[in-house]
Amino acid sequence: MMFEDAKKLVEQSNNIYVVGHINPDGDSIGAAFGMCLALESIGKNAKVVISKRSSVYDFLPHIDEYSVDSIKEDQYDLLICVDSSDKERLSISKEDFDKARNILVLDHHIAKIPYGDVNCIFSDLPAASQIVFDLINYLNIKIDKDIATYLYMGIMTDTGSFNYSSTKPSTFEAASVLIATGIDFADICKRVNDTKDEGVLYLIRATIENMEVYYDGQVRLSFVPYDIIKSIGLDEEDAEGMTNYLRMVKGTEVAIYIRGKSDGTNKVSLRSNGKVDVSKIAIAFGGGGHMRASGYTMPKEYNVSKKELLDMIGGML
Ligand code: AMP
Ligand code: MN
Ligand code: MN
Repeated sequence: MMFEDAKKLVEQSNNIYVVGHINPDGDSIGAAFGMCLALESIGKNAKVVISKRSSVYDFLPHIDEYSVDSIKEDQYDLLICVDSSDKERLSISKEDFDKARNILVLDHHIAKIPYGDVNCIFSDLPAASQIVFDLINYLNIKIDKDIATYLYMGIMTDTGSFNYSSTKPSTFEAASVLIATGIDFADICKRVNDTKDEGVLYLIRATIENMEVYYDGQVRLSFVPYDIIKSIGLDEEDAEGMTNYLRMVKGTEVAIYIRGKSDGTNKVSLRSNGKVDVSKIAIAFGGGGHMRASGYTMPKEYNVSKKELLDMIGGML
């Protein structure tokens, strides 16, 4: 069993840090803090290394109490990395990464190069938070309401509220156990999915205004440059989620939302309705993800990168 080695690592460790990916989504935060609180509950000394995150997650139990942005010690026992197939995309400095005696990876992305001492990769599961749920059970740790809040939030976000095809019967079983702890799942959904800054409305408008249509409507692309995001007054981390509006249009196979970032690069989000495996595209351009949802940072100048992307998709339609 894959978790046996993970269990040994946890048992022999006392000072443990958990880390997710940069620009963290609900699953990254849910898996990291769910794992951290579970470790704390069995007497480990655990914290989450996290830098910038959206204020959407402010309501989560004890989130600031367990957050650190860097590691003070010269060495620590274990680093648990969740929801990232890419070492470079972890929300931790190389220096702090290298201070760990052991690395445990819990992930649902196919790793380019597995970077853990122990790698628990379940690419058939829809969320890293579901893997954390399984590991916590394997470790016989009781799931309290706070832990359940994080894990439910993570599973909910990465499954599109249990609607994506990646959702498994075991996902509903996990949700059932989590809900039985008494969490306010309606409130979690309201806060994470259904509450937006007013600026998001203006971002939706910009996304629609900038929409370009290719391959007889099979591909929809929208680029929102950073100066527009800035003029709207939205935080960068909140300028996400626009791909879904492009994908929902009838006949669309691939939706592409590209947003400018404050560092001058452009972040690409890809969504597929099934015909095209967009993880292959993202990996080809140095990113990663899943068949129906993937992303990467544009490696070249915008117009060149865009042409290469559209050409590749054209070859796959
Ligand atoms: P997003 O479009 O940012 O919501 O990302 C969709 C999926 O692609 C998620 O599963 C991400 O983990 C993955 N992904 C996005 N950007 C990158 C990247 N730069 N490198 C690797 N994976 C990524
Ligand atoms: Mn993620
Ligand atoms: Mn995930």
